[in-house]
Amino acid sequence: MLYRNLLTVALQGASLTNAVATMGRTTLEEGAACACEQLAVTLDGAVILPDSADYERESLNFWDIRAVLEPKCIVFPEDPSQVSTAVSVLTSCGAQFAIRGGGHMNFPGSNNIDGGVLLALNHLKDIHVAADNKTVDVGPGTTWADVYGALDAYDLYCIGGRLKNIGVPGLSLIGGFHYLINKYGMVMDNIVNYDVVLGNGTQVIANSTSNPDLFWALKGGANNLGIVTKFTLKTFPIPQISTTIQVFNESVIKDFIAATVDMANYRNLDVGAGPIITITYNTTTREVDAVLRGVQEGNESPPSSFRNFSAIPSVVTQNAVMRPIEWHNSLDSPFQMFRVQFAQKTMEPDTEQLFRIYQLWKKSVDGLSDVEGLIPTLVLNLLPASALTVGKTNGVGNVWGLNDDQSLIIWQFSTGWDKAASDLRMTNWAKNLLDFLHAENQVKGLASEFLYMGDSGEFQDPFLGYPKENVARLRAVREQYDPSGTFSVLNWGGFKLPSV
Ligand SMILES: Cc1cc2nc3c(=O)[nH]c(=O)nc-3n(C[C@H](O)[C@H](O)[C@H](O)COP(=O)(O)OP(=O)(O)OC[C@H]3O[C@@H](n4cnc5c(N)ncnc54)[C@H](O)[C@@H]3O)c2cc1C
Repeated sequence: MLYRNLLTVALQGASLTNAVATMGRTTLEEGAACACEQLAVTLDGAVILPDSADYERESLNFWDIRAVLEPKCIVFPEDPSQVSTAVSVLTSCGAQFAIRGGGHMNFPGSNNIDGGVLLALNHLKDIHVAADNKTVDVGPGTTWADVYGALDAYDLYCIGGRLKNIGVPGLSLIGGFHYLINKYGMVMDNIVNYDVVLGNGTQVIANSTSNPDLFWALKGGANNLGIVTKFTLKTFPIPQISTTIQVFNESVIKDFIAATVDMANYRNLDVGAGPIITITYNTTTREVDAVLRGVQEGNESPPSSFRNFSAIPSVVTQNAVMRPIEWHNSLDSPFQMFRVQFAQKTMEPDTEQLFRIYQLWKKSVDGLSDVEGLIPTLVLNLLPASALTVGKTNGVGNVWGLNDDQSLIIWQFSTGWDKAASDLRMTNWAKNLLDFLHAENQVKGLASEFLYMGDSGEFQDPFLGYPKENVARLRAVREQYDPSGTFSVLNWGGFKLPSV
């Protein structure tokens, strides 16, 4: 015990110079061996190794099969001070590492690492509603279902992820689409405080008065700045939501797209409402299913915000009023189902061009019909201008810096398949088709260069779509808070700001 305490104190005092000196000179193997050994002593019981029974289960705890790698050890800190100790050990050893929250990001290497150290935050699961019911503190080991479940007891809701098991940290740090964004904005715009472990192991808070630059940078700056050990989110008294599920066949697909475009353009600040819009194509049966999953705050049923969809003849329509947690519990996204890649571009809402994108996507998917386990989906994510207004008026802004004079639609390929042998083919397919259609949008004056990290492929760079001055500011904040490069050199996976 004495040895452990002394080691912890020594590590927390380890100079930055040491960390800088070891970075880049220590090999992957040396750094991981050093960190795994030291952490097994300092964080007794928090480290699992490949020969342990838990390792195999934990190494599969990722949504995308492609994200499964073989870390040298997996570390489970129990609280923020153990995160701090872990970061101090990792930097003093020069160990390369990955951080895992909910494990959903389908960017291999963003949340896992071959041969390095995986810092898994699953045990940081505290959720605490403030005495005035206006905010909730949430640990980074939680899913959105955990949070909505805890808020349910207070008749409260918050702006978070749309499916049940998405992790709180990854989604919050990249922006965060919820249903009700038209009125309440993105998830990042609803966060009033972050507790953060910096690259030298120190713990700080970031809010509008303490470290305000870091506060701004965490709103969209992803995993470039530190490890967030607590998010404080605004809560809202929304005990009930009105939901609608509507399924349409191919004969009305253009009307379905027109209703989507109308919804994106409709400036509604009074009632929070929004959809998940998907179009799936089965290359064997040649059937197309266009699906609306809509949510509106309150108990008006059917929810009138989706009246344009309701006017289209549907195959299935289910309307209901329920508590938010009931809805989220019904929308699972099981882990390890397939190899899966997202890829996307952004455009101004336009029915004719989106219909063309749908037609060419479907035709192109036909050329992939021999790919084993193919599951192609076209997803349309709406970014109404009113959501962007919230981002502008949240008191600090956000890294996206999008203007609120124009609604946008993110058109995304979400494609699953079975075999690693198809990986390169699928990536090539997605890149080519995206670039071709985006070029058309550019010619027609409909293209936006914005990319959402949650919908992008690993081959895309969302930072190129942010305003240049915001990227420059983000780099300055990173230089200030992580001068030694812990979150670029040692923790290098995912959507990273360019190093030069
Ligand atoms: C099925 C599915 C549904 C989705 N639905 C939505 C949706 O409704 N709305 C939406 O906006 N997005 C959605 N997404 C995208 C989602 O937001 C991202 O995949 C997000 O990264 C998931 O967060 P996570 O914690 O589960 O991810 P992880 O894979 O655990 O983490 C993502 C990244 O964040 C880093 N990270 C994790 N925790 C921390 C931390 N505490 N501090 C610093 N860095 C950290 C990781 O190292 C990694 O690089 C969805 C994705 C999937 C696969």
